[in-house]
Amino acid sequence: MSAKLIKGTEIREQILEEITGEVAQIKEKHNVVPGLVTILIGENPASMSYVTLKIKTAHRVGFKEIQDSQPVDISEADLLALIDKYNNDDSINGILVQLPLPDHIDEKKILNAIDPDKDVDGFHPVNVGRLMIGGSEVKFPPCTPAGIQEMIIRAGVETSGAEVVVVGRSNIVGKPIANMMLQKGDGANSTVTVVHTRTKNMEEHCKRADILIVAAGVPDLVKPEWIKPGACVIDVGVNRVGEKISEKTGKTIAILKGDVDFEAAKEIAGSITPVPGGVGPMTITMLMKNTLKSLKFKLGIE
Ligand code: NAP
Repeated sequence: MSAKLIKGTEIREQILEEITGEVAQIKEKHNVVPGLVTILIGENPASMSYVTLKIKTAHRVGFKEIQDSQPVDISEADLLALIDKYNNDDSINGILVQLPLPDHIDEKKILNAIDPDKDVDGFHPVNVGRLMIGGSEVKFPPCTPAGIQEMIIRAGVETSGAEVVVVGRSNIVGKPIANMMLQKGDGANSTVTVVHTRTKNMEEHCKRADILIVAAGVPDLVKPEWIKPGACVIDVGVNRVGEKISEKTGKTIAILKGDVDFEAAKEIAGSITPVPGGVGPMTITMLMKNTLKSLKFKLGIE
């Protein structure tokens, strides 16, 4: 059997089209578009390329977008003042501070200074609490878990009553996706198990999963014999395992591998996400969705 591929690249296009349409409608009716600011400190190449992609995507869907680049030696007080400025800027609906921050800045202090109603990354403790409560309390689910749930829904996978096993318990992927899948509601209502490095018999847990979500950061951690035949496998892992020359650009690029032995797993699973091109493209897409939601909350139409 060969599993159905759940392609993040395709789902991203669908969602970005939907967002573009909604933005145009809101602009026509309310004469306003969502505003997103990304704050970049210093010149870390990876951070710069993430921010560029976020800004490009925001532009594509019709948002007002601001890239606010600050020197690496900006003081914590000046950065807090900048966040305060955007917290009070009516044209801005989403504030994103690109991580990691330089050592002299307290990351927690910065993230906690963002107005929870503009925290489109969903990392502020208020939004973490809202996610835990669930239902209509939820404003901004964190982007990678939100992307995972969206992929499961759009792939038509039944979640109600499903056994979901999440490998990994990080604050940005494992814990929030586990919480989201156990809530009441569409794309959830699952029975959830979370496994991690201290779990006994990890294989036995994984074998029970109708939906297996793997976010460990260990290449090929999940073996094909751990997968229940027909299961939906979501591989969040992005692991650099080498380098190659790109046929398109001639430049050296990383060889990426997921946490699941994809080639073998696709013969057993019912559906599976590839790496790259699976969960990866969904994160920025959901950031756009959260920013649009932020404006809709403000207008009272969400
Ligand atoms: P993380 O903070 O390092 O957390 C990894 C989790 O996996 C931890 O809870 C750890 O358990 C668990 N784990 C590690 N090795 C394990 C093993 N051998 N057996 C069982 N559990 C194990 O990582 P993260 O930030 O959640 O990211 C996970 C992966 O997803 C990474 O490859 C990352 O690059 C990728 N990622 C992708 C996206 C995207 O595509 N957009 C976004 C975020 C992350 P303990 O808690 O016991 O240490």
